[in-house]
Amino acid sequence: MIDISGKTIVCGIIGDPVEHTVSPAMHNAAFAYAGLDYVYVPFQVKKEGLAEAIHGMGALNIRGLNVTIPHKVGVIPLLSELDFLAEYIGAVNTIVNHGGILKGYNTDGIGFIRSLLEEGVNPKDKNVVVVGAGGASRAITFTLVDKGASITILNRRSGMEKAVRLADEINNAFRRDVQALEFEDENLAKIMGKADILVNATSVGMIPNPEETPVESRWFRPGLLVYDIVYNPVETRLLREARQAGATTIDGLGMLVWQGAMAFEYWTGQKAPFGIMRDAASKALTIKNE
Ligand code: NAP
Repeated sequence: MIDISGKTIVCGIIGDPVEHTVSPAMHNAAFAYAGLDYVYVPFQVKKEGLAEAIHGMGALNIRGLNVTIPHKVGVIPLLSELDFLAEYIGAVNTIVNHGGILKGYNTDGIGFIRSLLEEGVNPKDKNVVVVGAGGASRAITFTLVDKGASITILNRRSGMEKAVRLADEINNAFRRDVQALEFEDENLAKIMGKADILVNATSVGMIPNPEETPVESRWFRPGLLVYDIVYNPVETRLLREARQAGATTIDGLGMLVWQGAMAFEYWTGQKAPFGIMRDAASKALTIKNE
């Protein structure tokens, strides 16, 4: 039980819906473990209430907020400052209140990188194929290029315009020649042989459709790292088939926990207790699925 007093520092998450989030379990476990007088609460905020909620963050002296669907983009003009990666990505998932100055960050991409580093993989100079061009892909692709990886973006035909725009934005920001290709066998045949890492940044394989998979198993081989950012279920069909084909795998729980850990570090100035946060998130996901 959290012992709340007049000195307790408040953090939280804004989104709609927020019932499904595992962030309160993860952050409150971390605050308790670190002996910090902090509490983390969910706030359901409708689109029409977003501006009032952000002004309220300053007025109520809320130290930090995570931002989730549907507010990651809409929140930007309401903030005082943006971190450079959040500005490139065009989405904010973490706000820090520095004495009334509200600064926006995006910890999804850096959370992804930290989870790779934790597994002993440095993305610098690696060839990475990223499937998907949505919000999570934007965070991951910009951050991968910032960290020195060479990337190719694949997306289904209906989303190609979005994928090409994303590649153009990355190329303009970093003077690179990132390509966006249609997700089809001919293109996979051209790029998979040289790939060090394959990232699924689509929602394919997520509950309620765990029988689906975005990439057929014939593209997997020993020496390839397959990273699925879907974390529910933790072992997706993609990861199971990649493992069976001798590829190395990383599940989406690491990115989920690291993006939270980075937010924890911004709000508290302390190193996040990663293992405690991972256990709490894993337990909360299990309970949610029961
Ligand atoms: P999003 O913005 O809606 O983007 C979804 C992407 O998936 C788009 O590129 C979309 O293609 C593609 N897609 C969807 N259904 C598809 C299908 N049937 N076949 C091929 N491509 C398909 O979603 P998001 O916010 O990026 O999230 C994507 C996934 O990542 C979700 O499962 C989310 O839970 C997970 N995620 C995990 C973490 C973590 O910390 N591990 C963080 C963020 C997100 P189009 O462009 O053509 O629509």
